[in-house]
Amino acid sequence: MKKVLLIDDDRLQHRLVQAHFERFGPGKYVLEWAQTYEAGLEKLLEGDYAACLLDFQLGERDGLTLIREAVSKGCHVPIIFLTAETSEGVDIQAMDAGALDYLVKGEINTRSLERSLRYALKLGETLGKLHRMATRDELTGLLNRREFDRVLAEEEERSRRFGRSLGLLLIDLDHFKKVNDTHGHPAGDAVIKAAAAKIAMCVRTVDRVARYGGEEFAVMLAEVDARVTFEAAQRIVNAIAKEAVVLPDGLNLKVTASAGAACFPKDGDAVKRLMMVADQALYRAKADGRNCARAAGEQSAPTV
Ligand code: GH3
Ligand code: MG
Ligand code: MG
Repeated sequence: MKKVLLIDDDRLQHRLVQAHFERFGPGKYVLEWAQTYEAGLEKLLEGDYAACLLDFQLGERDGLTLIREAVSKGCHVPIIFLTAETSEGVDIQAMDAGALDYLVKGEINTRSLERSLRYALKLGETLGKLHRMATRDELTGLLNRREFDRVLAEEEERSRRFGRSLGLLLIDLDHFKKVNDTHGHPAGDAVIKAAAAKIAMCVRTVDRVARYGGEEFAVMLAEVDARVTFEAAQRIVNAIAKEAVVLPDGLNLKVTASAGAACFPKDGDAVKRLMMVADQALYRAKADGRNCARAAGEQSAPTV
């Protein structure tokens, strides 16, 4: 059964909506109620609601701010705005903030509410798919480069504000061209997928992993220092080298990767600079023989 959240400080409004829900017939939706801004936001961010009915006026605070805050925190629940007013301004503001529909409280009946929910659910589903297509890499399911850049810039801003550190890793598969040339492109794809899964296994759920280019990956580690960042880079390099990748035709293929690590703000106090020094560290890892990690600022091992 689909869960719908009503965020409204008005007890009577809850009773009215509940009555409409009962008239929808059994088994369709179940209504949950949050009475305050804070409780509503918390429930919304739990994320398992099919839709949300949100009151414009929430005590001292307003629903528009709540939508913006929820959306900025990654909420994708379709939101239908409820308001006592019929002014066009509110309508447009609600849509701009991210609401999918707008209902005037005095005009709601069972049919219009049911229809609005149905449409919001359908539209929410489509938007979810579009969002996934726009932010994820299709082959691996990891973040794509654009989304990673966005998340990294956002996290850097937050780290700066709260005086926290942040780790960045760039990982590139070694001699990958040879895999394609010898075993074909589908084998190359299988190797990329396997490496992606291993990288994701090596980091925490709060960290973000992206396919940054063809056979290049980027990882953002939240609130870690240079030492922990470098250890993560080594862990990933080891994990990739440890087990051979089993190709679709059953062939076992040894794959290695090189990694560059950099830490904000120690190695760079802007995302661009951080990316650059991580890339230089990766380049050094390649020059030092591959299948290893190097940290920004650290000198290359002497070549013999
Ligand atoms: P190095 O150790 O210096 O990184 O050598 P490399 O061969 O891995 O480096 P290079 O960047 O020259 O080669 C990367 C290759 O990755 C070239 C390109 O054909 C291949 N590639 C890029 N994207 C994909 C993809 O989506 N699938 C497959 N199978 N191959 C890809
Ligand atoms: Mg490579
Ligand atoms: Mg490359």
